Amino acid sequence: MTTSARTVCDPNCHASPKCGLSATIENGRIIAVEPADYPIPGFENRICMMGRSRLEYQYHPERLRKPLKRVGERGEGQWQEISWDEAIQLFVDTQKRVTDQ
Ligand code: SF4
Repeated sequence: MTTSARTVCDPNCHASPKCGLSATIENGRIIAVEPADYPIPGFENRICMMGRSRLEYQYHPERLRKPLKRVGERGEGQWQEISWDEAIQLFVDTQKRVTDQ
């Protein structure tokens, strides 16, 4: 079964507002993304190559799906899988430490 959904692109880019996307979904999996309409004039049908290639990293077999914590020195490439709760707490603690400084 094929359906479509109106959504937005959400990568690490500085576009504001985020570009609107129309996703084509087949059997629960996105198979295509296209630029979509937008309620703000000038932003309709906008998409860049990063947005167009979004599916390549969405379903990439090497995509990280669990948080990793660096356990070696920076650049050594040593990581340890941690839980989401631990990752969130680590983030909160780091943000508090940076804010306090
Ligand atoms: S389509 Fe491109 S410019 Fe638009 S939000 Fe995505 S990455 Fe940013």
